[in-house]
Amino acid sequence: MSVQLLKDVEDEVTRFLSELIRINTTNPPGNETAAAKYVGENLSQDGFKCEFFESAPGRGSVVTRLKGTGEKPSLLLLSHLDVVAADAKEWSVDPFGGVVKDGFVWGRGALDMKGMTAVEVMVMKLLKRNGVALKGDVVLAATADEEQGGLSGADYLLRNYPEKVFAPYVLNEGGGVAVPTRNGNVFTVQTAEKGILWFKVKAKGVPGHGSMPNVADNAIMRMNRVIGKLGNYRSRVSVVPTVKRFLEEMAREDPLLEEPFSRLLANPELSDEILDELAKTAPDLAEEIRPRLKMTIAPTIIRGGVKENIIPSECEAVFDCRILPGQESAQAIGLIKGLLGEVDSEKLAFEGLQVQEPSESTAETPLYDVISAVLREFEPDCGVTPMLTTGGTDSRFFRRMGSVCYGFQPMFPEVSSGKVVKREHGIDERISIENLVFGTSILYETVKKFMS
Ligand SMILES: [Zn+2]
Repeated sequence: MSVQLLKDVEDEVTRFLSELIRINTTNPPGNETAAAKYVGENLSQDGFKCEFFESAPGRGSVVTRLKGTGEKPSLLLLSHLDVVAADAKEWSVDPFGGVVKDGFVWGRGALDMKGMTAVEVMVMKLLKRNGVALKGDVVLAATADEEQGGLSGADYLLRNYPEKVFAPYVLNEGGGVAVPTRNGNVFTVQTAEKGILWFKVKAKGVPGHGSMPNVADNAIMRMNRVIGKLGNYRSRVSVVPTVKRFLEEMAREDPLLEEPFSRLLANPELSDEILDELAKTAPDLAEEIRPRLKMTIAPTIIRGGVKENIIPSECEAVFDCRILPGQESAQAIGLIKGLLGEVDSEKLAFEGLQVQEPSESTAETPLYDVISAVLREFEPDCGVTPMLTTGGTDSRFFRRMGSVCYGFQPMFPEVSSGKVVKREHGIDERISIENLVFGTSILYETVKKFMS
C-alpha cells in the first residue's frame, strides 16, 4: 500500500477546523471575511501570500497559489466559507462551539464544507513543507456565498478576477463519499449537477362570498389544477453520461444491481417500473436514482386567501424545477408554459425567480484517472464512480468557463453507533477526525501525483 494515512496531521487539521467552525458565517448575512482572514493568517504562518477579495463589506474570499513550472495546467482547490443557519436549541452541542469529542469535530459546516476547507489548506501546507516539485500551479480559493447561490463568492471572483482563480481543473464539494456495497466501498466523484429553475405561478379569479361558490371564480381551485398538472408531470427519461456510468459501476460492484440496472439502461422508458421494483429491496438507492433520470417539478410554497368567507381572486404558488445536463432552462420554461396553457392560459401568469443551468464534466480526464488510481492504491478493490447531484454547487460557474470540475471530498460514510450519519445542513452536523485524516491523505496524494 503506497498511500499512507498522514496520521501526524491529525491535531493540526482538527484544530484548524474547530477554530474555523467557531467563526459564525451563517449566510445570510455571511460575514465570511472573518473566516477568510483566519484561513489567510493560518497559511501565512507557512509563508503563503494570500489575497482577499470582498464583493461587499464583510463578504470576503481568500485566494493563494503555489507556483508550478507551467508544464501542466493549473488545479484549483475550491471551497466555500459560508454555512446555513443552525438553531442551537435543536443541537446537543453549540453549533458554533467547534466542539471536539467522541472522535468527531462537531458544528455547522463540519461537512458542508469547512471540513473540506481544512483538508485543502492542509494539503497546500504539505505540498509546500515537503517541497513537492509542481509542474502546474495549485491554487486555493475559499469563497463566500455558496449557500445563497454563489453570486457574491465564486461567481464574483470568476467574473472580476479570473486570472486569480480560473483553472482548467477544479476540485470542490459534492462527491467523494464512499457508498458501501456488497463488494466493498464505491467512491463517488461528482462530475455533474442538475440545473435549478425556481418559478412562481399566479392564478387569477373573481372574488365572491364563500357561501355562494358558484357565483365566484375561485383562484384556489384554479391553482389546484395547476399543482395537479405540474406536480404530477412525468418528464421524459434521459440517461446522461454521468448517470450511465454510475449505473454501470454500481452494477459491477453489486451483483444484485446488475440485472435491474442493465435492464434500465436498455429500456430507460421503463425506469419507473424498474425502480419501483428495486425500491422493495433498496428503497434509498431507488429514490436516489429516480430524480437523476429526469426533470422534476415540485410545488414548494402556496399562498392565497385572506378570510374564511371570501373566495379569493388570487392564489400564487412557487415551484422548484430541476433539469438535467443537456436540458436548458429556456426549453423547460417553454414546456411549463405549455402545461399551464392546458389548464388556463388566460388567468395564469408565469414568473421566473432563479435560474442556474445544469453542468457536467467528462470523467475521461487524467485527473479522474489519478483519483481512481490513488483510491485503489489505498483500497485495492474499491470502486470509483462519477455521480450526478440533484443540488448545485459553485462548480457550475467553473464548468461554464470550460473547467473540468469534480466534487471530491474523500470520505468514508460517517457512522456513529452503527448508523450512517447524513447531516449536511442537519442537526448535530459533524465530521470524524478519521475522515479529516483520510481526506487529507487522499487529496494530498491526488494533487501530488497529478501535478508532478
Ligand atoms: Zn456546500
